[in-house]
Amino acid sequence: MMHFELNEPRAAERFWEGMREIAAAATRHQDYELYAAIVTVGRAALSQGIELVPSGGLFLRCPVCSAVPGQRCINLPGHLLGDSQLHSERAVLAERVIRGEVPLPVPL
Ligand SMILES: [Zn+2]
Repeated sequence: MMHFELNEPRAAERFWEGMREIAAAATRHQDYELYAAIVTVGRAALSQGIELVPSGGLFLRCPVCSAVPGQRCINLPGHLLGDSQLHSERAVLAERVIRGEVPLPVPL
């Protein structure tokens, strides 16, 4: 059983890091049910007070550069990343998917 300390400063980042690893596995195996489970768990986490950090968007395919789940974004002309690991469009999409405002994109 994984011990999860909510008061640990990087708790949210570590949580989403784990989610990203699961997303990468779901992509490798093309397992859409596993991928959908990530959204269910993410939604539960938000309701328990775990914040969605920007890098949480790594569980989705990027709508800008097409980086697959688990992969960092790729610099594109007109869409430079700067200091962030992922395009802001991807972070925004992740937030909307987790909050249930838009459906989970397919394919993986
Ligand atoms: Zn991207």
